[in-house]
Order: sequence, then structure tokens, then C-alpha cells
Amino acid sequence: MKMLVGGEQVDAQGADVIRVANPATREFVDSVPKGGREDAKRAIDAAGEAFKVWSEKPALDRSRVLLKISDVVRASVEDLATTLTLEQGKPLGEARSEINSFANTCEYYAGLIGRERGAQTPFSTGEGFFIVTKRPLGVVGAILPWNFPVSLMGWKVGPGLAAGNTFVVKPASTTPLADIKVAGLMVKAGLPPGAVNVVTGPGGVVGEELLDNPKVAKIAFTGETATGKRIMEGSSKSIKRLTLELGGSDPMIVCDDADLQLAVEGAAWGRFRNCGQSCTSVKRLFLFESIADAFVTSLAEKVKTIRVGNGMDKGTHMGPVHTEEQREKVESMVEDAEGRGAKDIVKGGRPPQKELSNGNFLVPTLLGDVDYDAQIAKEECFGPALPIFVVKDLEEALERANDTPYGLGSSVWTKDVERAYHAAERIQAGTTWVNSPPIARAEVPFGGFKQSGFGRELGIEGLDHYYETKSIQVLEYGKGKKWAFPIN
Ligand code: NDP
Repeated sequence: MKMLVGGEQVDAQGADVIRVANPATREFVDSVPKGGREDAKRAIDAAGEAFKVWSEKPALDRSRVLLKISDVVRASVEDLATTLTLEQGKPLGEARSEINSFANTCEYYAGLIGRERGAQTPFSTGEGFFIVTKRPLGVVGAILPWNFPVSLMGWKVGPGLAAGNTFVVKPASTTPLADIKVAGLMVKAGLPPGAVNVVTGPGGVVGEELLDNPKVAKIAFTGETATGKRIMEGSSKSIKRLTLELGGSDPMIVCDDADLQLAVEGAAWGRFRNCGQSCTSVKRLFLFESIADAFVTSLAEKVKTIRVGNGMDKGTHMGPVHTEEQREKVESMVEDAEGRGAKDIVKGGRPPQKELSNGNFLVPTLLGDVDYDAQIAKEECFGPALPIFVVKDLEEALERANDTPYGLGSSVWTKDVERAYHAAERIQAGTTWVNSPPIARAEVPFGGFKQSGFGRELGIEGLDHYYETKSIQVLEYGKGKKWAFPIN
């Protein structure tokens, strides 16, 4: 598959390619050009030219193109979902839902754009008034991870295009294919050539060009916290605008009055969807003492029914870990916890089936009696292993929940509204779900506290991050005497 620059499918200047492998079989899926700095520069220039056209279009025209994009993407859901499953590993049902989520985001911002209200406000001194307007930023570099390549592209291009910006997308090197296809469909749907470009290639080269290039006004990044720090550093040279959506170690707190069956379902969904590779996966489970035994028994029963397999097979609940390196990281975190005395409530590890032996599969793990100093308690575990902690009350749960450098998502499970609100106010995280697993919605702002990043995606706030605020101060005729020079 080729890259997309200026509305054309193109090769890179160099002849090297990146081979994309299926995480379930390690078989070759397709290859993409290994782009370099010159390729990124060409795409940035194409986006700069397209900005002149796209940013001048009336909001209603931009809205219509975004609606058309949602229709075209929805109509191609089977093809796109298949590509996504083959390159990423997730089950086909999850891939379909990710493609639809991209379409939903475009649709949401199509509805929002052109319907905002502004204000003209008199100066407090009575000499005139000011108007606050919003202007698009220009060319945006969207740097994407491999866990939700398509929906996270939507979180960036949806609001960004609605606001009049144009894009150079740098997909993760292991998941470029569905993103290229979606961008091709966007052009077919009427987006001007160059308004969205996709350049494939290593983060350390193509990504670094996006950081270095002064023609890029903003970087919208999702990925690892360590890379986020590098993005901040690299963007500082030309003071680029930034939104950073980084790692998380989300706590789930189950109180003694919670609907236990609902919470068990929520924990399984929240931890094992996408094979545990979501920034807002449930990564630490805190149970009140009095319900802990019953909860753990029920969760263990549920987890043992999770069918691990190739995402293309009907009946697969959980696909492989995305890369071998990632699988080894999860395994080493589990071993570290076991070495510190953790007990296997459900023993995970590599599945015994011969047909799964070529893929990066892991069976879900549940760990009890986990030491708070274990890596799995302190760092982000990006895979299907869940540490469980027993707490005496909500205050202890909140203290433990906040004892992390991360602050992305969190959830509290209780029927007591006061308790829920108290917890939500105190958990240091961008989102607290009450009696719900982590589900992102186009209309709700999403982002992190602490080292989980800053800025917000989705919601009206997501749109604001693709604008510059411009103030126009108007002095009313005949009221300017107060600033006569010299100042006495
Ligand atoms: P990275 O942060 O390494 O990669 C994310 C994106 O950044 C990729 O497109 C990558 O390109 C690019 N990139 C890498 N280095 C640079 C650079 N110097 N300048 C600009 N762009 C760069 O995450 P990984 O995909 O390697 O995942 C590793 C870890 O990140 C996981 O273990 C997990 O903890 C976390 N993660 C968190 C996510 C979240 O949503 N919070 C999502 C995905 C991962 P390339 O692919 O070419 O290296």
C-alpha cells in the first residue's frame, strides 16, 4: 500500500519499505513505504497549500464534507475492519466498532461546526467593546499509536478539520494500513487533496520532522508518556500547540453497595477489551473487604470464559497482544508481581493450542495479594493482566488510586450517589466513570491529569484545541481621550 500525499497515492523517495505483520499469525499482511524527512516535508507543504482552500470554506461546507466522510467510512466498514483486524489483531467485532466510532466523531463535529455562538462584550471602562473570535491553527501533525489507529485518528482529524485545519498523519509503524484506507476515502468524500496526508515511516524520522518543521502549528499525539516528553521537547523549538494523550494506570473502585454482577461485567470489559491495550483499560482493581471474596470468585468465573484467538475467527473474544515485545513486557510484569508474593487467581500465560503458537497470544491473568511496589501496581500494564487489591474503605481506595504518576481514567461502582460524587471529585483523573466501564463518547471531553497528558480531545473542548483565540478590541468613536500621549 502507498502513502497518501496531496490526494495522491505515492511511494517514498527511498526504496525501503516497512512490512506489516499479523499479530495473530506473524504472516505478512502488506508493506508501506518507509518514508523519510523529505517525504514528511512534501506532505507538510501539501497540507499548507490545502489549508489556504479548506480554512476559507464556509463552516457549512466543511460540515457537509465531514458528514459525507462518515457515510463513506460506514459504507466501507467490513473492508476497513478486516484490514484493522489483520494488522492490529483485535476481534472483528471490536474493529467494526472502532471504524464506526471514527464515523461518529466526524458526524459529531459536522453537527457542531457553524453552530457555535460568540459574544461582543463592552469594556468595563465603557470606551468600546471587544469581540473574541476563533481561527484555525494551520497544519497539524497527528502522531498515532497502534492500539486504536482509526478511532484515535478520528479524535484528531474530526475536530481539526471541522475547525478548518489540515493534517499530516503519522500512523504507528505497525498499523498504517486502515489509516491510509480511511484517508483515501476522505478524499473520495470531497476533502480537498492535501487536507489529510498520511506519511508512513519511523517515529524517530517522520515524527521528528513534524516536530522540527516550523510550518507545523500543532502536534496532536497519543502514545507512551516517554514519547510524549520527547514530543514536548521537540515542539518547543517553534512553540507548537500540543495535545498529549499519554499512558494511564486506571483504578476501578468497587464499594460494598455496588451491583456486583454489573461491576464484574464492567471489570472484564474494562480490562480485557482490545486485549487490555487501551489507555483507559482498568489497570488496578480495588475491592472493599466485605465483597472481595464474592467479587473475585465471580470475576474469575467470567475471565475463564474469555476465548482467546485469531481476531478473524468468529467466536474470538480476545485477540493477540499487538507485538512480541509488548507480550514480553506484560509477562515480565506478571513475573515481577509473582516474585513479590502475588497469587494467581486465574493463571494466564501463553495458550497451549498449537494453532495459536505463532501469534503473540496471552491468556488473561488475575492476580491477588499484589505488593503495592510491584511494577504492575506502579507502571502502566498494557495487556491482559489485572492486579486486585483489597481495601477497608473508600478513603483507603482513593489514596491508593491516586498513588500513581498517571491520571487518565478511573471508575467507581456504588449505588450511593454521595459516595460516587465524593470519589469522582477526589480521584485525580481526567474522567471518572460511575457504574460504567471506560467508554469514550464523541460529546464528552477526554484527556489526562498529571503525566497522562494535557489538552482535551472530543467534546466542545476538543474543538477549542484546534483554534487560536483572537481578540478584536474596538474603541468607540470619540471615547479615546484616556490614552492621549504623553501619559501624565
Ligand atoms: P510510542 O509512544 O512509542 O509510539 C506512538 C507514536 O509515536 C508512533 O506513531 C511512533 O512511531 C511515534 N514516535 C515514536 N518516537 C517518536 C519521536 N521521537 N518523535 C515523534 N514520534 C515518535 O508508543 P508505542 O506504540 O511504542 O507503544 C509503547 C507503549 O506506549 C505501550 O507499552 C503503552 O504503554 C503506551 N501506549 C499508550 C497508548 C495510550 O493510548 N495511552 C497507546 C499506545 C501505546 P513508530 O510507530 O514509527 O515508532
